[in-house]
Amino acid sequence: MKVKDWLDTIERNTPKGFPQLVCGWPDEEHGITWDGYIEHLITMLEGLDEGDPLPTLTFQAWKDMRREEDEDRDNLSFSWDDCDLCSVLAGNRYAVTALPDNPAENHDYVALSVCQDCLYYIASGDVPGWRRMTDED
Ligand SMILES: [Zn+2]
Repeated sequence: MKVKDWLDTIERNTPKGFPQLVCGWPDEEHGITWDGYIEHLITMLEGLDEGDPLPTLTFQAWKDMRREEDEDRDNLSFSWDDCDLCSVLAGNRYAVTALPDNPAENHDYVALSVCQDCLYYIASGDVPGWRRMTDED
């Protein structure tokens, strides 16, 4: 595929109204939510014996703990599905989020699963070198 076709495919597959692509998924895609926190607290409380002191764990501390547990969480590993952006066939996938023009006011987003080339392109703004070299095909 020529570089121009590759970039056109990415543009075509970028969700309408969500033009900003950033690496990684937001916490909620990884289950790091208020509901997840409450569930964790319930499990902690159920594990208490009579007379035990109440555990203290703030939402922020729980979120920090969860993030540290899985630093590699945005590496989604192998998938048979096509890349959400360039449509390349099965391979390793990485988390990317499509944000609206005004993410400060509009908190909607689209979680994407993309190939290594697309991740590189989003992270660096550059087309991967091997794609440029095969541009003559
Ligand atoms: Zn891709």
